Amino acid sequence: MTNSFAKAVADEAILRSSLEEADIVVSALVLAHLGGDLSILDEVKPFIHGAWNYQEKIPDELKKNIRERLVATLIESAKSNRPLVRGLSDAALKKIMCVGAGQEIPDEYLPLMAEELRLNDEDHRALQWRRDPRELPREDFKVVVIGAGLSGICAGMRLKEAGIPFDILEKNDELGGTWYENSYPGCGVDTANHIYSFSFHPKPDWTRHFSKQKEILNYIKDVADRFDLRGQIRFGVEVEKFEWDDDASLWSVTVRGKDGSRKTMRCNAVITAVGLLNRPAIPAIPGLSEFKGECLHTAQWDHNVDLRGKRVVMIGTGASGMQVGPEIAPEVASLTIFQRSPHWAAKNPLYHSAVSEGQVWALKNIPLFNEWQRFLLFWASSDVFHSTLQMDDKWTRPEQSLNQANHEMREMLIAHIREELGGDEELIAKCVPSYPPYGKRMLRDNYWYRMLRRENVKLVTDRIDRVTADAVVSKDGQVHAADVILLATGFQAGKVLWPMSIRGSGGVELEKEWGEDDPRAYLGMTMPKFPNLFLTMGPNTGLAHGGSMIFHIECQIKYILQALREMIESGHSALEVRREVHDLYNVLVDEKCRNMVWSHSGVTSWYKNKNNRVTTTSPWRLVDYWDLTQAFDPSEYRIFSPRPAASEARTAHDESVA
Ligand code: NAP
Repeated sequence: MTNSFAKAVADEAILRSSLEEADIVVSALVLAHLGGDLSILDEVKPFIHGAWNYQEKIPDELKKNIRERLVATLIESAKSNRPLVRGLSDAALKKIMCVGAGQEIPDEYLPLMAEELRLNDEDHRALQWRRDPRELPREDFKVVVIGAGLSGICAGMRLKEAGIPFDILEKNDELGGTWYENSYPGCGVDTANHIYSFSFHPKPDWTRHFSKQKEILNYIKDVADRFDLRGQIRFGVEVEKFEWDDDASLWSVTVRGKDGSRKTMRCNAVITAVGLLNRPAIPAIPGLSEFKGECLHTAQWDHNVDLRGKRVVMIGTGASGMQVGPEIAPEVASLTIFQRSPHWAAKNPLYHSAVSEGQVWALKNIPLFNEWQRFLLFWASSDVFHSTLQMDDKWTRPEQSLNQANHEMREMLIAHIREELGGDEELIAKCVPSYPPYGKRMLRDNYWYRMLRRENVKLVTDRIDRVTADAVVSKDGQVHAADVILLATGFQAGKVLWPMSIRGSGGVELEKEWGEDDPRAYLGMTMPKFPNLFLTMGPNTGLAHGGSMIFHIECQIKYILQALREMIESGHSALEVRREVHDLYNVLVDEKCRNMVWSHSGVTSWYKNKNNRVTTTSPWRLVDYWDLTQAFDPSEYRIFSPRPAASEARTAHDESVA
C-alpha cells in the first residue's frame, strides 16, 4: 500500500463518487484481486458478455454491492496497513481474466498477461544482465538508433536502463515520429488508448478512450523526459546511408544535417526505428502539379491553409481520410470525396467519448485498477478475431467473406452502414466493400457515414482522369471544382527503410536483396549479411488483426536488447542471423499469410507488394509473436569474435556527429 493511496482513500466521499463513474467490471476484478476473495467473480460472471465495458449487463444492486465491498476492502487495508494481495496463483489469475473477458482464455496467455500487466512487480522486459554488469565492457560498445518515434524512444529507454551507450538520430526537429508528422484535423489513435501506451509507463489520465494526436505526442515527449532521453537525441539529422565494415565489425553511419553538411559516425550496432508509414505516397495523377490551389497530403499538413468556406476535394478514404473528412465537413463549402474502393468501418461506442473523472481517479489512485483495465482492453482488441481471418476452403461465398464468423461480422458491419445511411440505397451500394472484413485495415467509424449524408458532401466513385488548374475531372468527364486538394493517399509502406542506402557484409546492398518491394527479415528484425542491424516495425510485423503496435515494439526491443547483451557479455564483435533460419521463418510467414484475409484475391492494399505477397502485416497472434521474441537464441546466429580492441572502438565513436 502506497502512502498516496492511503491518503487518497482517506477521503471516502471521493472514493465513493469516483467508483460510481469508474468501470464496474474493472472494479469487480480489482476487488477479487486485492481482497483475495474470488466469490465476486461467480456473482458477476453471468452478466459479462465481452471485455469492452459496454458489454456488461450487471444489475444495479450488484453494482452497488461491488462498490461497497471495494470501498470496504480499500479502507480497511489503508487503516490496518495490511498489504493488499498482489501476487496470484495461475488459477486465480485465470479465473479473474476469464470472468472479466466474458470468455475462456487459454493458459498460453497467462505469462504474457502477467508480464504485460507487470503483476509480479518486476519488469520482465528490462534487460537482466547474466553477469555482474560492473565487469562488462559496455563503454566500448555503441548503438545508433535511427528515429525518435515510439520505437526509438522505447529503444533509448531500454538501452539507457541497460547502461549501453547510444545515440538517437532524428530527422525532424522534435521527437514523436508519426505522431509529430501527422497533425491533420481529427488525427488520433484508433487503438484503445489505455493499451496504446508503454507497459512500463502507463498513463492513467488519458482524456479520451481514443485520444487525439496532440495528447499522444505529449505522452511520447513525457516518456522521453521521464527517462531523460532528450540529451541523447540528435535532432535535424537525416541518415542517408550506413555501411558495414567487415574488418572493423562496425557500422559507418552517414548523416546529413539541415544545412546539407554530412558527417559519419561509427557504431557496433544499428537499431532502425523509422516506422512503417513514414514516407507519404503522392499519387501519379496527370495534371496534379498544375493545380493552382493548395494541395496537402495528410501527413504533411499545413496549418496555415484555411479550409473554411473552400471547395475541397479529398482523394482517399483510408484511416486518415476517415478521420479528416468528418472533422472538416462542417466548415468547408463543399467536400467532394474520391473513393477508389470502400473500407470497412466498425462502430465503437467509446470512440468519441471522454474518460470520466471517476475513471481517471480510479486509474490514478486504486492499486491494480490500471492493470485490470489494460487487460480488458488488451483482450478485447487483440487476438479475439484472429481465428476468424483464416480462409475456409469449403466456404460457399468466398468473394464476400472467409467463413461463417467473418460473414457474421460482414452482416453486422453492413447493418451499421444501412442504419447510418438511412435507406439511401445508392449511397449504401457505394459504401459496402466487395471484399471480406479485415481485408484492408479495419477502420473505426468516425461518423463517416453520417458525414456522407450532409448536403455539402459528395462521394465520387468514378476514377480520377486528371487534375486541372482548378478542378479534378473524373473519368466520366465530370468536373469537380476545387480550391484545395487533400491527399489522404497513405504511405509508401512497401519500401521498408527507404530512402536510406544500406550496405551489409561484403558491400551487399539491401535494396538489391529486397528488390523494389519485397522485404523479408527474421522475426521482422534481422537479415543475413547485415550483422548487428536490428529493425523495429520491420517486414511482416504490422498488426492488422488487432492489438497495439506498442506491444509489438516492446517485444522487439526486448529481443534486440538480449542480442546486444549476448554480444557484450560474450565479447562477440557481431551477430548475423543464419540464412537457413531466416529463410525458413519467411516460408512459414508466407504460408500463414497465404491463408489469411489480407491475401484474399479481392483485396488491394498496402499490405501486399506488386506480386501479391503480404510484406507488411504479421500473420501471428500476439501471443505467438510474444513467444517467438521471448528469448534470443544465439544458435540461430553466426557469431563473430572478438570485438575490436577498446581503444579502436573508442576512436571510432569519437567521430560521432556534433
Ligand atoms: P491508406 O490506408 O493507404 O489509404 C489511402 C487511401 O487513398 C485509400 O483509400 C486508397 O484507395 C486511396 N488512394 C491511394 N492512391 C490513390 C489514387 N491514385 N487515386 C485514388 N485513390 C487513391 O492510407 P492512410 O489512410 O493514410 O492510412 C495508412 C495507415 O496509417 C493506416 O492503415 C493505419 O495503419 C495508419 N493510420 C492510423 C490511424 C489511426 O490510428 N487512427 C490514422 C491514420 C493512419 P484504395 O483503398 O483503393 O487503395
